[in-house]
Amino acid sequence: MKWLLAGFAMLSCGIAAESGVVMFRFGNFEVTAVQDAVSKMRKELFPGISDTEFRKLAGDLQAPSSVNVFLLKHDGKLILIDAGNGGERGTMLRKIKALGISPEKIDFILLTHIHGDHIGGLLDGEGKAVFPAATVFVAAPEREYWQSDAAGARGELARKVFRTYGDRVKSFRFGEEVVPGIRALDASGHTPGHTVFETDSLLIVGDLLHAGAIQFPRPELSATYDMEPEKAARIRKQFYDLAAAASKPVAGMHLPFPGIGRISHDTAGYIFSAEKPR
Ligand SMILES: [Zn+2]
Repeated sequence: MKWLLAGFAMLSCGIAAESGVVMFRFGNFEVTAVQDAVSKMRKELFPGISDTEFRKLAGDLQAPSSVNVFLLKHDGKLILIDAGNGGERGTMLRKIKALGISPEKIDFILLTHIHGDHIGGLLDGEGKAVFPAATVFVAAPEREYWQSDAAGARGELARKVFRTYGDRVKSFRFGEEVVPGIRALDASGHTPGHTVFETDSLLIVGDLLHAGAIQFPRPELSATYDMEPEKAARIRKQFYDLAAAASKPVAGMHLPFPGIGRISHDTAGYIFSAEKPR
């Protein structure tokens, strides 16, 4: 009886046996949040805030963070949004395999942008494709930038991924429906083609923010990771307002795990409330 109760509790709150995996449902999408790595964001990453204020907001000089990946199931298709770190640090692959999902089963991979903690998981230790059957989608300006001379040595991993996945890498323009039910929105600023993916009932916001404890109350603060800090701050506020007005939950790659919740206005800035699993 005890066992049955425990089993029921586990199912009813959507938390799988392994920690770092939490299931939700939004509209017609099953959404599984998978924690690829535990992470914290140091105060030094945020110019323009004092140690005292940072500590007051985050409780420490490091703000809680995470590296999250979201696995969506819709209309019989498995869609991975970003691929995490890969290598020694990334645990996403092990966790989705533990759910009974083999990497060959992933149909589509949608990239919010091309940074190592979002694309590293596409290649294994030998440089081979981890997802042999998947089509990989990335915004056209993002692909162009990381293949250009401007990216220099920082574009090495991106070029390796493009070479390995070959013609299975497809580009999209902002505003397009990339795969059925998922539209790409322009969220550039963090990187030249940084993308927010929108379904009818969820916004997957990539690296719109890096430390919720700091950047909800102070949305104007960009991290040093943002290539265009002022534009990133403008876009951040724009999507906070959109999410609040539409009452759409947001899923963030660096929001504390499981990384999904709702944004509302506050007298000073915004408030984030974590969403309950299904
Ligand atoms: Zn990132």
